[in-house]
Amino acid sequence: MHLLPTYDDVVAAAQRLQGQAHRTPVLSSSTADAQLGAQLFFKCENFQRMGAFKFRGGFNALAQFTPEQKKHGALAFSSGNHAQAIALAARILGMPATILMPQDAPAAKLAATRGYGAEVITFDRFRDDREALARRLSQERGMTLIPPFDHAHVIAGQGTAAKELFEEVPDLTHLFVCVGGGGLISGCALAAKALAPDCKVYGVEPLAGNDGQQSLQRGERVRIEMPETIADGAQTQQLGVITFEVIRRDVEAIFTVPDSQLASEMRFYAERMKMVVEPTGCLSLAGARHSGLDLKGARIGILVSGGNVDMSRFSDLIAG
Ligand SMILES: *Cc1c(COP(=O)(O)O)cnc(C)c1O
Repeated sequence: MHLLPTYDDVVAAAQRLQGQAHRTPVLSSSTADAQLGAQLFFKCENFQRMGAFKFRGGFNALAQFTPEQKKHGALAFSSGNHAQAIALAARILGMPATILMPQDAPAAKLAATRGYGAEVITFDRFRDDREALARRLSQERGMTLIPPFDHAHVIAGQGTAAKELFEEVPDLTHLFVCVGGGGLISGCALAAKALAPDCKVYGVEPLAGNDGQQSLQRGERVRIEMPETIADGAQTQQLGVITFEVIRRDVEAIFTVPDSQLASEMRFYAERMKMVVEPTGCLSLAGARHSGLDLKGARIGILVSGGNVDMSRFSDLIAG
């Protein structure tokens, strides 16, 4: 049985991240408040180092390497932000990093990962077994594989985003978090249960990739085909073993939204809040807006997870 991370692990992660991760701003929008008839608090991880919350989990994991692990370095496979997180954390901590990335990953993410000094090896997302590839590389090179979500240290690091939000806005009634493999929402739920036990935590997935929603309904992890969605950060086939346990214990429900609503939230963020938010980062607001829950008078936390999107793709998506 896997040991589940606890809120104490989130607190320890916050100490490791002190002075390393940005304490990102919590912004508001009177337009959004009026539209939803509620008060919204946006935790803006699009302003985090490397442009997404993933730096938190990646740094927290690498900071706990033994001297021997550190010598051989870190290995990761990722469609984007986790790659950059591991690359940047490895550079800061002075260790080598090798990243396996899909060859069709957004150009900005490939370039940024190489820019942080990591070695990048590309693979075919639809043909290659990336996990087998990663295992072989870690055996050959002695590198430590850090998975993007199903790892206690990664989950604890991601939870520091919600810890900061609850410290700033203690009386939230609802928290909406995007779900890929579930690392972010697991960590956030740990923080919520400790700091605001009455706050309900909801996940949001792309409609095309609702493996998490199906898993909660069936009471077991459901694996789906690789989803086709503009939310590339949530293009996962299955929740993790650890993340599923935390989610089914601490998360109320998972909602889904179609890609068209993500594009419309991208426009909202750009026009109204002057922010670049990547499609996956738009899930939480879209989920709150279309949840069907009665949110009148609620105090709602919206986890804006990241802002990494190619500018040409950004302009195509916001043009509609
Ligand atoms: C990775 C990622 C997610 C999903 O996080 P999980 O921990 O896999 O659920 C959401 N948004 C962005 C921007 C991401 O990079």
